Amino acid sequence: MPPKLSHTDQIAYIHNLLGDNPTVQARLEWSAYCQTCEKEIPELAGEKNWPGRKNLAVDVLPRHESEARCPTCKGEVNANPKIRKMFVSK
Ligand SMILES: [Zn+2]
Repeated sequence: MPPKLSHTDQIAYIHNLLGDNPTVQARLEWSAYCQTCEKEIPELAGEKNWPGRKNLAVDVLPRHESEARCPTCKGEVNANPKIRKMFVSK
């Protein structure tokens, strides 16, 4: 895989490599880094630890807000999803 591709481009690259039929899914691991405290926030590791979306009328992913408050300084932090694992299914 070419270096320095965004996650979306990585998935697109694998799609092209495999042709039209297989489905590529990525499991994301959410984490957060607080700029103010200058540290990772272990309480926000994993999407399930983020606040649930208020409007679930439409079935969209992710099902959690990608913004939360740092438990230490109460500043706003954003989710930083990383690809944990990729799956290919036909
Ligand atoms: Zn903080």
